Amino acid sequence: MPSGLTESAEMLRRLAATAHVAVRGLESRSKLRRLAILEHRRDGFWVVFQPALLVAPEPVRVFVLAHELAHIALGHPVKIGRLRFLLIGATLLIGIGFGMVLFSQIVKDANPWLLTFESVIWIATMLSPRAILLAVARRYEYQADRWAVTLLSDPGAGNSLFDWMAASTRRVLMPLPLRLWGSTHPSDVARRRALLGGAG
Ligand SMILES: [Zn+2]
Repeated sequence: MPSGLTESAEMLRRLAATAHVAVRGLESRSKLRRLAILEHRRDGFWVVFQPALLVAPEPVRVFVLAHELAHIALGHPVKIGRLRFLLIGATLLIGIGFGMVLFSQIVKDANPWLLTFESVIWIATMLSPRAILLAVARRYEYQADRWAVTLLSDPGAGNSLFDWMAASTRRVLMPLPLRLWGSTHPSDVARRRALLGGAG
């Protein structure tokens, strides 16, 4: 496994140099929720691989590394961080404001239908920041895929990854509703279609 790590780290270094993207290095960690992640640490960006990815065919690793470099180049981590900060603030304000209105109406014994309606809107508002973040994150995934394809100058560069993932039995399968809610990455089928169509 260490040799796979060294080889992939060297691959990352070469790709980063070609793309003029600053990245510190590559690490491997088991029990990673995703195949690969990008970590923004004090000393810069690190790519973290699941051990299974280290033994994946070279084109798979190259595409994943290019995809993670794309996130850095396009400033996605910073943008997501800023958006999350804004949304937390907005949610708190709306939550407190709406909560006060609801409370005053409950005290005044307002129409129960109106109260129900308002409560539903309130809950939807409190949940929507997560929906917004997921939508933005998914858009960034498509952008990163396209950027990776451009960097590698190979329109089919993503296929090796999607084929490998489809064939891999190591994938952790979550129940579908959980996956839809929790996964920031669009489905492999959707990503492949987007890359081939070149749309979006
Ligand atoms: Zn990504």
